[in-house]
Amino acid sequence: MTTSGVTRTSSFVSRWFSRAVCRVREGLRGIAALLYPPQCVLCGVPVPWGEVLCAACAKSLPQREGPSCRHCGDSLDDARVDLCLRCGTHVRGFDRAASLGPYDGGWKMLMARFKFEREKAVGRWLGGRLAEAAAESFGDIVCVTHVPMTRGEYRSRGGNPSRELARWVARRLGVPERTLLAKTRPTRPQRTLSARERAVNLRDAFRGVRSETGTVLLVDDLLTTGATADECGRALKRGGCNEVCVLTVVRA
Ligand SMILES: [Zn+2]
Ligand SMILES: [Zn+2]
Repeated sequence: MTTSGVTRTSSFVSRWFSRAVCRVREGLRGIAALLYPPQCVLCGVPVPWGEVLCAACAKSLPQREGPSCRHCGDSLDDARVDLCLRCGTHVRGFDRAASLGPYDGGWKMLMARFKFEREKAVGRWLGGRLAEAAAESFGDIVCVTHVPMTRGEYRSRGGNPSRELARWVARRLGVPERTLLAKTRPTRPQRTLSARERAVNLRDAFRGVRSETGTVLLVDDLLTTGATADECGRALKRGGCNEVCVLTVVRA
């Protein structure tokens, strides 16, 4: 076997092993959930079935306060303006954006339990909160969609958190979850890049695979500079969407 063949085989084995560990962990968690009452994921006290936080921890989740950008929802330091610097100086690909809270405190821990521990109950709970926020912030939407990954990215990350959330949100809102976009090439992780590099990294990385008119809700876990939302929004609009609303669990 060639060196590249050995590397491919070992990376396949390590991916298979990490997926198997994930499945076993999910299975054990499922059995534990049947045997024991659920506990608050932040402080460990028992909570009612279907809940993931106790009342005190739910109340302590950090909220964004003060003035916010009317386009992207980011916090503003100056109450005399209504657009952030980015929305004031760039053409955005989406029309409106909202999030449940800042990437801090309890939200950060919930995100880790959902994304890295892959706890379904947390995803379902977050989906419920996102659906409430969507109804409050955006009104009528025709469907919910997600940020796509390439097949390789999906395999190496063991799933697509954006799609999982979009499914929970759609179910709670009673509208379809549709795959409207595809990713044309793999990209570098956005968290490692500057704002300028993020935009270049994602340029033309998404294309429409299905057209949809009306207002579409794009759901993701985290919004930072909004470069992903911009690129997805542009591709959705090329596909016929009249309005793209972006909803994320947190805003960094
Ligand atoms: Zn608690
Ligand atoms: Zn803004």
